[in-house]
Amino acid sequence: MKRSIFLSLFLLTALSLAAQQTKPRVIILATGGTIAGSAAGSTQASYTPGVISIDNIIATVPDLKSVADLKGIQICNISSQNMEPAIWLRLFNVIDSLFSNNLCDGVVITHGTDTMEETAYFLNLTVKHRRPVVLTGSMRPSTSLSADGPFNLFNAVSLAASPQAGGRGVMVTMNDYIFSADDVTKLNTVNTMAFGSPNLGPLGYMRDGKPTFYRESLSKHTFNSEFDIKGLNSLPEVEIILSYAFASNIALKALIDAGVKGVVIAGVGHGNYNRDIAGELEWGYARGVRFVRSTRIVTGGVDMAAEEFDSKYPVSFLKSPQKARILLMLALTKTNRSGEIQRIFEEY
Ligand code: ASP
Repeated sequence: MKRSIFLSLFLLTALSLAAQQTKPRVIILATGGTIAGSAAGSTQASYTPGVISIDNIIATVPDLKSVADLKGIQICNISSQNMEPAIWLRLFNVIDSLFSNNLCDGVVITHGTDTMEETAYFLNLTVKHRRPVVLTGSMRPSTSLSADGPFNLFNAVSLAASPQAGGRGVMVTMNDYIFSADDVTKLNTVNTMAFGSPNLGPLGYMRDGKPTFYRESLSKHTFNSEFDIKGLNSLPEVEIILSYAFASNIALKALIDAGVKGVVIAGVGHGNYNRDIAGELEWGYARGVRFVRSTRIVTGGVDMAAEEFDSKYPVSFLKSPQKARILLMLALTKTNRSGEIQRIFEEY
């Protein structure tokens, strides 16, 4: 009799442990932003981002417990306009070691919305795993009436825990939509519907804690990326210059003099720039600086044989200048050859 009670107890414990283990393990890496922001009142526009800890944010969304076995790790607590290469490298190293050591099934990164697309794209090109990495944030601080952070976090954790989310590259979920890191961008400075993929559209959407996907990113990313940044302590310095009516060459010249390794031209229209800039590009190219032509226009992209036709300056077809900058940084960890850089821009 005693033996059978003991056996039943043992079975019960084993079953409840097994039940617990069927929940996917998700780790939230918190970096700050408005989702961790606080204001003096619930309706005012001004607030301080990056002040609430991840444990406190998780505590405001009890529903998360039913979705995943959850842990939060505070990586930093900053406004994302202050993002630094050291934090990108840290995020990469933490995610790589979590997945390599099978410590979790998915990662969520809470992040300020200003540079979320850049961190997402950097990780999309460097994290060589199929397990999901999902970024989210909010447009309203946590103290706001109708704050958007809690639902965005619920969607992000649900997406990272979903068996359908693997192998799709790094994703961003905001306001119920799922975007690919490849082409997501912030399109509105204040509205909760702030993100979009203006050229290609969202990957899908979240409903009732479940993703529905209707397209996938065909650019190379994550598990089939060629970029190996393990052991790197810094990234090549690449800057962006904006083109506009009668732009001078002063900024570009200063960048070349300062020794940057690459510059992305956010050209006018189809990636165009004026004669002063063209002269400066020749001068910089001869000194080993590498240039990529992009555009300040949000849709349409840049083709090689447009008005400014010079194959030594690769083109970034659909990437925004801020994404082209990240791809050029990573390309320059491998090569300085324009043809090879163009090949990379065609594949990623
Ligand atoms: N400036 C904030 C940030 O990027 C804005 C936000 O999170 O929405 O950290």
